[in-house]
Amino acid sequence: MDSKEVVIKICDLNPHVVCSLCAGYFVDATTITECLHTFCKSCIVKYFQTSKNCPMCNLQIHETQPLFNLRLDRTMQDIVAKLVPGIVEGKPANFV
Ligand SMILES: [Zn+2]
Ligand SMILES: [Zn+2]
Repeated sequence: MDSKEVVIKICDLNPHVVCSLCAGYFVDATTITECLHTFCKSCIVKYFQTSKNCPMCNLQIHETQPLFNLRLDRTMQDIVAKLVPGIVEGKPANFV
């Protein structure tokens, strides 16, 4: 019974733990301090090579050094670490 509740919570959280740049779960979740949008570290670092704006809200992060305004998001990464194994192991339990 407990596992059902966990699965439901995972479904609710899922949209919040997926990187909009690679459509996968965050890897080294990194938050832009200016607008608090979160991406994989590698995704957002690569993105900032061509743009200085947030890919989600288009806010200008920094005129020259957008990387200064990134912060590793340990809380988010912990959530992903907990969610991802749950999704892999406990998949359709709640859909049966
Ligand atoms: Zn990504
Ligand atoms: Zn943003």
